[in-house]
Amino acid sequence: MKTSTRCVHLSEFEDQYGATVPPIYQTATFQQSSATEFGEYDYSRSGNPTRTVLETHLAELENGRHASAFASGMAAITALTRLLNSGDEIIAGNDLYGGTVRLLGQILPRQGIGVRYVDTSDVDAVRKAVSSRSKLLLVETPSNPFLRISDIRRLGELAHDAGAWLAVDNSMLSPIFQQPLDLGADFVIHSATKFLSGHSDITAGVIVTKSSELHEQIAFQQNAEGAGLSPFESWLLIRGLKTLSLRVERQNHSAARVAQFLQGVPEVKKVYHPSLIDHAARVVHLGQATGDGAVISFITGDEQFSKQIVEGTKLFSIAVSFGSVASTISLPYCMSHASIPPALRDQLAPPSDLVRLSVGIEDVDDLIEDLSLAIQSAIVCRGKVSKVAAARVC
Ligand SMILES: *Cc1c(COP(=O)(O)O)cnc(C)c1O
Repeated sequence: MKTSTRCVHLSEFEDQYGATVPPIYQTATFQQSSATEFGEYDYSRSGNPTRTVLETHLAELENGRHASAFASGMAAITALTRLLNSGDEIIAGNDLYGGTVRLLGQILPRQGIGVRYVDTSDVDAVRKAVSSRSKLLLVETPSNPFLRISDIRRLGELAHDAGAWLAVDNSMLSPIFQQPLDLGADFVIHSATKFLSGHSDITAGVIVTKSSELHEQIAFQQNAEGAGLSPFESWLLIRGLKTLSLRVERQNHSAARVAQFLQGVPEVKKVYHPSLIDHAARVVHLGQATGDGAVISFITGDEQFSKQIVEGTKLFSIAVSFGSVASTISLPYCMSHASIPPALRDQLAPPSDLVRLSVGIEDVDDLIEDLSLAIQSAIVCRGKVSKVAAARVC
């Protein structure tokens, strides 16, 4: 079956009363038939039927065999890093989500785990960075906010030759457009808060793998540390997944139009979207993905001007995160990437004039008009800004 069909049909779900939607098992404990006989479930930290429906569904959508759902994307990434030991090292992309950089830079060193950042769109640079200590290669493609493309197949081979795992954070594209496990990744991780949920009403995270052995370790971790997704959030995510394909297809088409519009605006210096990347990167991208996603970034060369645009839109609301049905706009330097520690900001933070959009499911002509009006009013304001106001944006 095609992925859009699989979004709607939960293959393994069966209910004793024939409910067409999985019930929310809002319970912490499950009764045992005796003190020595255990049923399939005993305690919701270890496992919950609603979460199991979700995990089975997520594994199928990513063409994996097992999935574990967590309370947030960061909880999922944390569980993944727990597979490493003191003395091991992570090779990570240099254009990663800010919260991931914070975890890698400020928590993992305390456990004796090292991190090296490289431009993972450059396979040779990754090859040079890998050492006998490297255990995990962690990649986002397209990256965020620069939308750089990393070659999943080649990085998978490289990681495996070095005795390391490849984990791909697939939050930007979702399994509708990219299925990294089929390209050689050992793990797919998601901030399910983004496209998978699609409604900005939960935080959730996922780890999917084809390997039963690796899954056992992740599931052990999920139970031991207690960061599994709750029954109600699991239920909401199951609901969100049904429209995943419908939503992201629409968002994908609209984003391509918005990117084209922005490219035609003289005040916009550069637009970042996978539909606009150079030929070599485009070839790699189209070799592993079938869509470009709904996140677009652009720079104007003037941080005050960018701030005016962000604050001037009406349909795009100012919010961190992306992937919701409602369009959002942000200044990552001050918002999502502000969590990058000051010492790493020069190396890893986006420029302060960079604006990021997440295109929702509204009518695309309305979205373009909204952006156009915000840009026009920012142009009018540009001449009037006082020196004080122009000092710093955040
Ligand atoms: C948001 C995000 C995360 C973190 O997920 P949370 O659900 O916010 O914890 C990780 N990776 C990427 C690419 C993200 O965009």
